[in-house]
Amino acid sequence: MKIIIDHEKCTGCGECKESCPKGGKIWTIDRKKKIAIPSNLEYCHLCIICASRCPEEAIRIIRDDNYEKSPKIEENP
Ligand code: SF4
Ligand code: SF4
Repeated sequence: MKIIIDHEKCTGCGECKESCPKGGKIWTIDRKKKIAIPSNLEYCHLCIICASRCPEEAIRIIRDDNYEKSPKIEENP
């Protein structure tokens, strides 16, 4: 799986880290560059809370089978 952050949209607000059940392990917020950086994705259980809570709709979660799951992004726009 992959978590893709749209750096054009991300403001570095940290809501993804705050809302993620594994936030401390997965999310790093670079406040200077105003971006969120996900890592250690073995801890991610694809709950998509981060994507649903991101105020900028900047997070896309992509499973290994290329199925994109995001409540705020249409799959077939
Ligand atoms: S919640 Fe969205 S805008 Fe805020 S830091 Fe995370 S990815 Fe960036
Ligand atoms: S999908 Fe869930 S566990 Fe994975 S990074 Fe987002 S909030 Fe955290």
